[in-house]
Amino acid sequence: MTGLNRYAQAGLLTLCAGALALTGPSLQAQAPTGIQAAVDAAYAKFKGLKEGKNADYIPALAKVDPNLFGIAVVTADGRVYSAGDLKTEVSIQSISKVFTMAQVIQEQGLESVEKRIGVDATGARFNSIIAIEGVRTVVGTGAPEMNPLVNPGAISSTSMVKGATADDIWARIIGTHNDFAGRSLSVMQDVYKSESDTNQRNQAIGALMLAYGYIKNDWQRAVDLYTRQCSIGVNAKDLATMAATLAFAGRNPVTGKQVMDPAKVPGVLAVMATAGLYDDSGKWLYHTGLPAKSGVGGGLIAVSPGKFGIAVVSPPLDDAGNSIRAQRAIADISNALGGNPYVVKTGS
Ligand code: GLN
Repeated sequence: MTGLNRYAQAGLLTLCAGALALTGPSLQAQAPTGIQAAVDAAYAKFKGLKEGKNADYIPALAKVDPNLFGIAVVTADGRVYSAGDLKTEVSIQSISKVFTMAQVIQEQGLESVEKRIGVDATGARFNSIIAIEGVRTVVGTGAPEMNPLVNPGAISSTSMVKGATADDIWARIIGTHNDFAGRSLSVMQDVYKSESDTNQRNQAIGALMLAYGYIKNDWQRAVDLYTRQCSIGVNAKDLATMAATLAFAGRNPVTGKQVMDPAKVPGVLAVMATAGLYDDSGKWLYHTGLPAKSGVGGGLIAVSPGKFGIAVVSPPLDDAGNSIRAQRAIADISNALGGNPYVVKTGS
């Protein structure tokens, strides 16, 4: 699946999905207490769930309290519905890949990412090296079978952010994350150090991406900035606000700031739908219909276009690296709120 033309209609398809969403149960019709009740019910149902295990290949992540559990939903009016821990920060990890991709798409257009990195599923784990080898022959010919939400594509995406120095580039990356979250975020230094000391695999990926032409310049700088962006501290409310900004055409519903061109948001959502939960993305989409993105810190964001942004923080992960409680809670809440854009009410 490497042709560009067949994807020219992707935006149109996403717009259609958005239009369908409007015919589903409307959140305007949903009393705020209904939303809160759905959030409370999921919190109560999954609070005691003990499956999964914290990521430990980054030593600092193994030390995070596995009982941490926070849920937040942000709606069009900027209201936040929540349950559990909304204060404790976890590292954003791979969820940051969405916002750096969004930044590159915003600055350089949808085609820049499609051509240089690709927007296709790899079918492999997030840090797969085989996935790089599998597509290397088509780099530069149009659309590699790669995407900005797995490590090779994400490190390449970070390398595409413009700036004369590492500090300039970082200022833009953190600035974009701040705009989506609606507040000033900081790097969790213990996580940054822990991953920097142990990220030899990502360094190997960075070097390979330079060798194969995805990264054009300093791969070490790209890997370092990528590691920093993955260490940004966020809580469930920050993540839900970031998701809601994508749900409402790039306008942060809490601050009112237009963070991204509305026309570019559907492309971001399409990549999330394709690869947001790595090699389990298809299963997730099959059950929820929601573009989403997970991180090994335990965060998961999901977007119901035009309806709400939702996020859950809960560190224990499944084998694919996705938070177990977060997947269950988001699926339940979205079901209760009619969040699946593919579900059309038939009136029967
Ligand atoms: N920083 C992590 C890594 O590169 C992010 C992975 C993830 O969240 N899936 O390994």
